[in-house]
Amino acid sequence: MSLIVQKFGGSSVRDAQRVMNVARRVTKTYAKGNSVVVVVSAQGDTTDDLIEKAREINPKANKREMDVLLSSGEQISIALLAMAIEGLGYPAKSLTGWQAGFVTDSSHGNSRIRRVETERIENELDKGNIVIVAGFQGLNRYDDITTLGRGGSDTSAVAIAAACRADLCQIFTDVEGVYTADPRLVPEARKLAEISYDEMLELATLGAQVLHNRSVEMAKKYNVPLEVLSSLVEKPGTVIKEVAKMEKMLIKGVARDNHVTRISLIGLEDVPGIAFRIFSALAARKINIDIILQSVGRDNTKDISFTVSDSQREDAVAVVEELKQTLRAKNIACDGVTKLSVVGAGMESNPGVAAMMFEALSEAGVNIQMIATSEIKISVLIDREESDRALRAVHSAFVAG
Ligand code: ADP
Ligand code: ASP
Ligand code: MG
Repeated sequence: MSLIVQKFGGSSVRDAQRVMNVARRVTKTYAKGNSVVVVVSAQGDTTDDLIEKAREINPKANKREMDVLLSSGEQISIALLAMAIEGLGYPAKSLTGWQAGFVTDSSHGNSRIRRVETERIENELDKGNIVIVAGFQGLNRYDDITTLGRGGSDTSAVAIAAACRADLCQIFTDVEGVYTADPRLVPEARKLAEISYDEMLELATLGAQVLHNRSVEMAKKYNVPLEVLSSLVEKPGTVIKEVAKMEKMLIKGVARDNHVTRISLIGLEDVPGIAFRIFSALAARKINIDIILQSVGRDNTKDISFTVSDSQREDAVAVVEELKQTLRAKNIACDGVTKLSVVGAGMESNPGVAAMMFEALSEAGVNIQMIATSEIKISVLIDREESDRALRAVHSAFVAG
């Protein structure tokens, strides 16, 4: 008998019909003699709707109260799914994140899981129940409700799989697996049979929302066998594991992130210590910096640009505005941009990948503003308006249709 964790996202439990569909998928696995833990997200756009409700009342709502509100979405889903499963004649028990033993840190809205105390889940499994757990939520050490950040139910599922040493963790969603690019934006994108944890982690971090990046990080750390597949059609999906077959592909996928802000300090004095002052001030305010670029000095001045996520834009601008006087910067510019990236372990041994990406962008007439690379990825910053076109151009340069 195997222990299988199955996670269903918001679109997979959108309405009564979809909840019934999930109940059928889950009971099929259970009827084969497996123990099953199911993790579910809030139905459809529930989380967005709750955020909007809060905004109407107080746009600067306290983060603790936001977590109380947002966690309610998943609580609806677990009860409905338990009812659906019982309706099919199988035993089910719903558990909130705290009943299921999720202990997190205290950063409301983006908490990290510290541990999962699995006694309750294991007891219910021992009694023969299908256990249904609310994703995306836990309790901190003060017993306050926390949430794991948008898309966090994937991480709840992997955390249970790791803590209970499950044989398999399946992430069911509204596409058939992990593709070479978002199949909604690039129709000719191809489904990957396999991808390594490292490549998937890069793709998820660089904007492929099909998996929460922390879920991949955790799956790698605890060696959880992970699979992404469709909740609607029964077909093999994508297996994520330590070493994936190289296939004959230079890159595994193209991802983009449209929530990037570029901030430039223009006309800074070209003397030692300037970068240190800027980035230590940003670090003190817990602002995460991604790409940094410093221009070559001329006429005793230089420019420094860096990127942050849109969610930290206001805080970052406030920091550089405070520094503007003391650093005698001539100007500060701030733009919303797109980060477009190609990912693949294959590029380590193939020097031409960057050139191929830049050629595709040049042929599409897309200007590159900044470039960053690591062993298995190349990212460029481009104008947000050109992002769809650039994504398709780069994808078609690497992946034959
Ligand atoms: P769920 O509600 O099931 O958690 P998400 O919306 O979070 O689903 O993630 C699934 C979506 O991720 C897909 O509908 C697809 O548009 C998007 N996506 C982005 N990049 C990729 C990719 N490389 N492969 C597959 N899907 C992707
Ligand atoms: N419901 C949460 C969200 O919309 C968590 C999730 O779907 O994974 O972000
Ligand atoms: Mg998701």
